[in-house]
Amino acid sequence: MFPFRIGQGYDVHRLVEDRELWLCGIKLEHTLGLLGHSDADVAIHALCDALLGAAARRDIGYHFPDTDPAYKGADSKRLLAEVCTLIGRDGWKIGNVDITIMAERPKLKPHIDDMRRCLADVMNIDVECVSVKATTTERLGFTGRQEGIASSAVALIYKAQ
Ligand code: MG
Repeated sequence: MFPFRIGQGYDVHRLVEDRELWLCGIKLEHTLGLLGHSDADVAIHALCDALLGAAARRDIGYHFPDTDPAYKGADSKRLLAEVCTLIGRDGWKIGNVDITIMAERPKLKPHIDDMRRCLADVMNIDVECVSVKATTTERLGFTGRQEGIASSAVALIYKAQ
């Protein structure tokens, strides 16, 4: 079997008042936060789906259903750690991951390196193998109107021969 696989993931969460804003495992100061059953860390959710997709292991909603009270308010870092354990049991190691966050606000540039370090720690891989990128959508669409934040991710996994 070819020892490399790639996967991609995508997620969206709605921005609302009176919620904390968590992105890539980091809590950010902002007037709005993301709504969801867990902490709604849209970037980690996209990353989990990329890793699960690479391993052909379904998706985050399959493993952590939003009807399960165990995941209510859950720290998404815990979900990511569980995904790493799951694909690790299949013999997969993580090569690199690349995340794009689509958000008009807040400005993410000052937080990118903290985000990379946080995700690298959870996945137990080198920070050089973790890329986090941010873009606005030029005030267009739901992300541009600050109604929500979207994230996409790709991941490469491999099996050591
Ligand atoms: Mg989600």
